[in-house]
Amino acid sequence: MKAIRVSDFGGPDVLKVQEVPDPKPDSGQLLVRVRAAGVNPADTYIRAGAYARKPSLPYTPGMDASGIVEAVGPNVKRFKPGDRVYTNGTITGACAELALCEESRVHPLPSKVSFAQGAALGVPYGTAYRALFQRGHAKPGEILLVHGASGGVGIACVQFARALGMTVIGTAGSDKGRALVAAQGAQHVVDHHMTDYEKQIMGITGGSGVNLITEMLANVNLAKDLGMVAAGGRIVVIGSRGTIEINPRDAMAREASILGLILWAVTDSEFLEIHAAIVAGLENGTLRPIVNQELPLADAPRSHQLVMEPGAYGKIVLVP
Ligand code: NAP
Repeated sequence: MKAIRVSDFGGPDVLKVQEVPDPKPDSGQLLVRVRAAGVNPADTYIRAGAYARKPSLPYTPGMDASGIVEAVGPNVKRFKPGDRVYTNGTITGACAELALCEESRVHPLPSKVSFAQGAALGVPYGTAYRALFQRGHAKPGEILLVHGASGGVGIACVQFARALGMTVIGTAGSDKGRALVAAQGAQHVVDHHMTDYEKQIMGITGGSGVNLITEMLANVNLAKDLGMVAAGGRIVVIGSRGTIEINPRDAMAREASILGLILWAVTDSEFLEIHAAIVAGLENGTLRPIVNQELPLADAPRSHQLVMEPGAYGKIVLVP
């Protein structure tokens, strides 16, 4: 099969298309013929060798994929060849024609969801669910600020939160991104590049602040977030690309909580909960992944550049 291979950590050009042997499913594993693979920011940190967990070289990148079950190993119970599926983690890498997966990381893809949309689920929707429900304890009637709502995780937060009955304020850096965030259900949209955006957000809440923040760029925003949360407010740190100085008194005064999130800490039972919720939301139409660009597998280097550029608009996926 053809696969993207990385033999040295480095810039996007280290992503090369190569021929590698087809993987074979062992007990409890299945082989998926990949129809689309999602590109996540973490894939670029891993490729650069800048991530806390490094794969051994050479490796095939990518965590999220969708496709059709090609073959199943012994003891696979829930799937058969021909089933439409998505995966939130592979053994051999998502950016390839075939991906070997543990059965527990494979989920049914409803027929009304495209393969490109299926590649936008594992990391983005899994992270959004964990941030809102497993870390942030989101409740209907609360006000949520999705700080960075135009990208893969942000759109998923907006859709989950609206389905729950929250009031959603979403931020984006471009007109196109803000229009997308509003179209996905956010009742209020704000430009995170405006100098007075905190005033706008406090105004929307009538001065009381937001109950929950899902934060995509904490190294820029955490100090301001602490000034925008209501009493008992929670801030879930999803993304951060550096350090920041905060005033701890801002947290004391509101009894606010700063909660970290890392997807690799999710347990098997939590994954069951996450993907049961995602599949239900796909089936009932409350979750509708937005795909901005579909690029051929050979354009993996370009996809890694694009995912780090400003002006997010949903997901970028690779198509083998
Ligand atoms: P993405 O699709 O590239 O979207 C990035 C988002 O960040 C966009 O909405 C972008 O908005 C926004 N952003 C840019 N500047 C911002 C600012 N000053 N303030 C607030 N938001 C800003 O990425 P993603 O997949 O949604 O992931 C978002 C972040 O979470 C990434 O850093 C990723 O690495 C991290 N993440 C962490 C975990 C974890 O386990 N902790 C899991 C998944 C993702 P504009 O482009 O419109 O400006």
